[in-house]
Amino acid sequence: GNSNINAKLVLLGDMGAGKSSLVLRFVKGQFLEFQESTIGAAFFSQTLALSDATVKLEIWDTAGQERYHSLAPMYYRGASAAIIAYDITNTESFERAKKWVDELQKQGNPNMVTALAGNKADLEENRKVAAEEAKAYAEVNGLFFMETSAKTAVNVNDIFYEIARRLPRA
Ligand code: GDP
Ligand code: MG
Repeated sequence: GNSNINAKLVLLGDMGAGKSSLVLRFVKGQFLEFQESTIGAAFFSQTLALSDATVKLEIWDTAGQERYHSLAPMYYRGASAAIIAYDITNTESFERAKKWVDELQKQGNPNMVTALAGNKADLEENRKVAAEEAKAYAEVNGLFFMETSAKTAVNVNDIFYEIARRLPRA
């Protein structure tokens, strides 16, 4: 039969990676060149109709700055899914993403569906992180990987729908 699934999804990653922009693109179909930085966290809800299930995602968009780090467990605890975002033009943001992966592996729900998003894929001319490197890292760590662009919308719906497809059915 058709199942109804409620799932908490958390966005993690360095400040400026484009977490809020990914959510804004997904939930409202919009993009802002000067997206305001997130204070604490922001909440959104989106319902996805899949062929075998209706998935209601409760999306927590976190701030990303180090000074908010101690709040992060509040958002990933009890989460069934996570998107860890980095900026393909910023090596440090990729290193920071790996730290989030480590933290979730140590403290998060072991069955969490986790995606690694190499965002700002539209900025190919400024690329610093090779897609192959991120893909290999994701494979070794049991994540699925996509390069996204909140600006052009490339792979944004896809990454959220892929998470929904991978969630355990009730
Ligand atoms: P957050 O701190 O991770 O939430 O990042 P934001 O969503 O606030 O984005 C930081 C900056 O990057 C903003 O100026 C956005 O307009 C810009 N940005 C976000 N996503 C993209 C993208 O896919 N492509 C480009 N070119 N800029 C982006
Ligand atoms: Mg933000």
